[in-house]
Amino acid sequence: MPDHDTHQGQPHILVLGGNFAGLAAAQDVRRLCGDAVRITLIDRRDYLLFIPNIPADVFANRNPADHQIVPIRPILKKSDVTFIQAEIGAIDVDAKSVTFVPNERSGEETETLTYDYLVIALGNRLSFDRIEGFAEYGHTVSDLYHGEKLRKYLYLLTHLDPPISLRYETGT
Ligand SMILES: Cc1cc2nc3c(=O)[nH]c(=O)nc-3n(C[C@H](O)[C@H](O)[C@H](O)COP(=O)(O)OP(=O)(O)OC[C@H]3O[C@@H](n4cnc5c(N)ncnc54)[C@H](O)[C@@H]3O)c2cc1C
Repeated sequence: MPDHDTHQGQPHILVLGGNFAGLAAAQDVRRLCGDAVRITLIDRRDYLLFIPNIPADVFANRNPADHQIVPIRPILKKSDVTFIQAEIGAIDVDAKSVTFVPNERSGEETETLTYDYLVIALGNRLSFDRIEGFAEYGHTVSDLYHGEKLRKYLYLLTHLDPPISLRYETGT
């Protein structure tokens, strides 16, 4: 397994996940440490997803994919953070390394990257497999695919009987 890491005398900060937490962490580390560190961020997506805004789009009959994503490559470049688009596999704490598979194309090789400091910002996971009946009857608005699926269910299908009334309010 090839290792991307080429030590240049600077501690290597590896950030796993590039949405709200990971992106902010990478930017903050750069702001606080300046040129004293190298920073790498890995995420399977190359965009920030404004998850909290997805419901507002869905219930207003808009596809959230048209409004709620911001490319992160230019943001990371500005902070001199190396970006790797990949599916993260495993963390080896003893070896201080992370395995990942670049995911732009299928069939890519597993690679390894070592770190001096690790930031884990991988969010959470859906539990369709753990909630009985949820896949069949449930909906979520926590990602673009399922948000758009719910929008189509609500607005494009005419099977709802009786028809439902939609009201969405933002707030904490
Ligand atoms: C409908 C809804 C409304 C919300 N509203 C609010 C709100 O009003 N205010 C608020 O504070 N919070 C809100 N939240 C919660 C908020 O969205 C989360 O707290 C926030 O997204 C967490 O950010 P994060 O960066 O920790 O994780 P995430 O946003 O989940 O990001 C995790 C990142 O890790 C990447 N990743 C995960 N696993 C892998 C892997 N194996 N390989 C590669 N990449 C991986 C993902 O691609 C993703 O980019 C809301 C959530 C939902 C669902």
